[in-house]
Amino acid sequence: MSQENIIEVWKDILSILEQEIPNSTFSTWILPLEPQYYDENSFVVHTGQGLAPSILRKNYSEITSAIKQITNKDLEFKIIVDDELVKKFSKKAAKTKVSQTPQEQTSNIPNYDSLTQMQSSNLNLKYKFENFVVGSNNKLAYVAAQTVAQKPGEKYNPLYIYGGPGLGKTHIMQAIGHYIIKNRPELKVLFITAEEFVNDVVNALARGDEKTKKMNKFRKKYRECDVLLIDDIQLIAGKTRTEEEVFNTFNTLHGSGKQIVLTSDRTPKEIPSLSERLVSRFEWGLMADIQIPDIETRMAILSNLAKDSNITVPNKIIEFLAEVYSSNIRELEGAFNRVTAYASINETELTLENVKKIINYKEQLKTYSFDGIVDAVASYYNISVKDIKGTGRSAKIAEARQVSIYLCRELTKESFPAIGDFFDKKHTTILYSYEKIKEELKHNKTLSLTVDSISEKI
Ligand code: ADP
Ligand code: MG
Repeated sequence: MSQENIIEVWKDILSILEQEIPNSTFSTWILPLEPQYYDENSFVVHTGQGLAPSILRKNYSEITSAIKQITNKDLEFKIIVDDELVKKFSKKAAKTKVSQTPQEQTSNIPNYDSLTQMQSSNLNLKYKFENFVVGSNNKLAYVAAQTVAQKPGEKYNPLYIYGGPGLGKTHIMQAIGHYIIKNRPELKVLFITAEEFVNDVVNALARGDEKTKKMNKFRKKYRECDVLLIDDIQLIAGKTRTEEEVFNTFNTLHGSGKQIVLTSDRTPKEIPSLSERLVSRFEWGLMADIQIPDIETRMAILSNLAKDSNITVPNKIIEFLAEVYSSNIRELEGAFNRVTAYASINETELTLENVKKIINYKEQLKTYSFDGIVDAVASYYNISVKDIKGTGRSAKIAEARQVSIYLCRELTKESFPAIGDFFDKKHTTILYSYEKIKEELKHNKTLSLTVDSISEKI
């Protein structure tokens, strides 16, 4: 196969993977891979990033299936850490005075035993305490998570972590899992999203010969672990059979001193239609919230990412990105990954001008402000801004308030916690109002006209 050919083939594979793999993983780990060759058995790429093989393990099936679509062959995908490329990467690192040698990089990878444990527990290598930046926004959750990791089942049980999207809930929950796997290898850790839990319940309940066997297997899986981590627990609400299984699993585990950790975008009480008995159980232990990080914390997160990916990123760029992406760390990281991927591929210097182009800065510019939106709503309803931001409950004021919240979210794309800060309300109240209007707009023509005509005037 000619060199040109493999490059073309790889480009086609990339264009499939770009759709299938989360942006940040794709740009940080897949784009820098260098295709080598493929034969009847395998497809080989080289990497200069020691962590790439283990990080990309979770995307293995998407990658092999993309390879199959393009080459028409079932090939094994092999990522080989190439010394030359490693040197190239560490040269960049030297510029940042972060000397992370390949040996040091591989030592981040757990030993084989814990790696198999880790895979069976579903954890992502990146989500460890070591990579978690602590700020005043997440201090409580961090300290509680550390306590639970050091003494599972002994103190805060369950530990319930809640907060807005992209603020580190999954990260800190998985950090607990990693810590326990490393320090207490005899304990069985299981991480699962509530969505997967629901699917498991549905499968176990499916009709058929093996129903009892399936149910037993299901129960065994969840009740025989020592540490159960369920992510986004709000998603089980209203699913009666799932709630029942969570209830039983909870009682069994809690009763025998096993640790349970839950995350959610809101407090148990604020999850609509969650059964009372689950609400009270979820509140038994400690509830710790995570807020929006301040600018220093956001900058620290970016500095760490820069160190990890061995790329020189000038401080003013870090500060700029941290200012633009203020309320969601996932988005902040996504932008950072796009910027650094661009820099590493094109080997160009990162200037503010380049960065603005890469992140499409104009689109990010808030042409809408919360104040502007609330002013327009107030004048439409003929009430004062104070009424909207206040607590008055008359139907008109309540509607105006909810419409304002809805428009703030839709037009600025700011996070619920950020909107909450502006209205001086909890982010869950904001979420509720937003969802209520969004739902109502589907069938309420009058409201729909109202919202349109206000939008035009902002
Ligand atoms: P959530 O579950 O709250 O939606 P995640 O845990 O998925 O958010 O976090 C989103 C991204 O932000 C992840 O890549 C995570 O590693 C990163 N992140 C969040 N908080 C921190 C932090 N305090 N330090 C470092 N990275 C963080
Ligand atoms: Mg999450």
